[in-house]
Amino acid sequence: MNLTWNPLWVNPFESPWSIIEKIKYSNAITARDLIRKYGTRSSGGKLVNQWNGLLKFNGIDHSLLSQSIGTDYSKHSELYLNKMVGMFPESGTDYLINKELYFCDDCLSMGYHSLLHQFVFATKCPFHLSPLRNTCRNCGNSPSCDRHDHYSKAGFQCSCSNYYTKPKFTSMSDWQLDLTINDEIITKWISMDSSTFNRIKNSYFFIPSLITMSNPLQFIIRFGTRNDAEMCIGSDC
Ligand SMILES: [Zn+2]
Ligand SMILES: [Zn+2]
Repeated sequence: MNLTWNPLWVNPFESPWSIIEKIKYSNAITARDLIRKYGTRSSGGKLVNQWNGLLKFNGIDHSLLSQSIGTDYSKHSELYLNKMVGMFPESGTDYLINKELYFCDDCLSMGYHSLLHQFVFATKCPFHLSPLRNTCRNCGNSPSCDRHDHYSKAGFQCSCSNYYTKPKFTSMSDWQLDLTINDEIITKWISMDSSTFNRIKNSYFFIPSLITMSNPLQFIIRFGTRNDAEMCIGSDC
């Protein structure tokens, strides 16, 4: 089966959830159609890895999907998640990425949802500086964007069949965006140099304490760029 697809529709830091919604939308297929065809299956034919891991693009049979869309997204999340949370131990990263869908109306109305919207330290949209929402305006649900959706619903729609945000794009070519990150600290965070990255990586941070801080990214970057970095928070320093 060939699907309509153009790799130019995918923008930097785009979430796998967003890519899946675009595939559904551009081909007028539902979540159920997509998962039945491209969900990973056990040797017995049962769907597996459907309950979490979509933010890392798990649960999709990438060889089947890439045959249909002509692009392989199996490594798509790795690069961006590494810039976002790769400086923390693997065991801590689950706390740093929200599984509930957080979205910016300005972004989503143009068909874009970012992994950066899911970063617990991003309190507003890094592109528009507008507040993030995590509920459907129509039914009040807080959907997961980490879990595969098996409902019979089209792209960018909640399980109540309404759009999370009214689309403003008029054709799929509008999906190719040129967004600039306007949040200064997020810009610094994702462009940190390798010595800062490694210094943070080789240190211990107690993540629950970081989450309660008022400006954790600023604190960690300052730590990572200090010459005599010896500060840390939490126990076992
Ligand atoms: Zn936005
Ligand atoms: Zn809804």
